[in-house]
Amino acid sequence: MKMICINCPKGCEMDVVRNADGSVTVSGNSCPRGEAYGKSELINPTRMVTGLVRVAGMRKPLPVKTRTPVPKAKIDDVLFALHQTTVQLPVKIGDVIVADVAATGVDVVATANM
Ligand code: SF4
Repeated sequence: MKMICINCPKGCEMDVVRNADGSVTVSGNSCPRGEAYGKSELINPTRMVTGLVRVAGMRKPLPVKTRTPVPKAKIDDVLFALHQTTVQLPVKIGDVIVADVAATGVDVVATANM
């Protein structure tokens, strides 16, 4: 699989191959971060998710994000959980808004004080 490392502006073009024994070989990277990224993208790609949740009694929503990246396959489930959530004020940056969102083991936290 061809991919471009997004960890720095150099943007190394890499070949990431799963070998017959299940191991993964990365070439074209200029540093170890590229190798780690290539392996992660092939085996278990993850992304940070940001979004907005409703605030009880207010029109303005609360911005939130996952505390750490979640598996790409779970992103729709995370967004659905955010859609189902209404928070009560007050909220501080870093407060857990949805614990273990979509059974990912990752919490969704507030990114603003309200
Ligand atoms: S492999 Fe290293 S040098 Fe190349 S884009 Fe990724 S982080 Fe940058």
